[in-house]
Amino acid sequence: MAAILSDGAHPVQVNRYLAWLQEHCATPAALGALDHRRLEPRLRPLPMYQRKARSLVEAARAIVRDHGGTVPADPEALLRIPGLGPAGAALVADAAFGIPRIIADRAVLRIARRLGWGTDRPTVESAIAHRWPPTAWPHRSRQLATIADRWCRPIRPKCPTCPLRPTCPTAT
Ligand code: SF4
Repeated sequence: MAAILSDGAHPVQVNRYLAWLQEHCATPAALGALDHRRLEPRLRPLPMYQRKARSLVEAARAIVRDHGGTVPADPEALLRIPGLGPAGAALVADAAFGIPRIIADRAVLRIARRLGWGTDRPTVESAIAHRWPPTAWPHRSRQLATIADRWCRPIRPKCPTCPLRPTCPTAT
């Protein structure tokens, strides 16, 4: 659930809605039984709340239908769950199953692009894979996401105080 809710949202905000979901729809079966339109008002302050409501319900139904109600540990199977996407699937693989993956979410792709590491997901993932060993991928992904969140904002990045400024070709 967190992997779907977190796209473009602040972690504190995500945790609040996660707590509500865990209290009211604790299992994939319970969540999948909901009409996503009834979930939308609950998620409304989140960015892309309508898409997230639909994705949560569809993901829960897919987990029940295709995996007997248990989130699969296979990264390829995770990729096929509706709404997760590559970054969400990588996040679940690492957080739930300890499988190290590169978690290239929107923020990581943005900062990597500004650092000159590539302009699309495959190139960015390849750049990260060449810089660090697999065991470090999740941690490094989270570090990049944190720097992107605090300094490398979509509009008016805070380059003068950014810790990556010395190596950044687009610093202002
Ligand atoms: S120096 Fe500026 S553009 Fe480069 S990573 Fe930092 S905030 Fe982003």
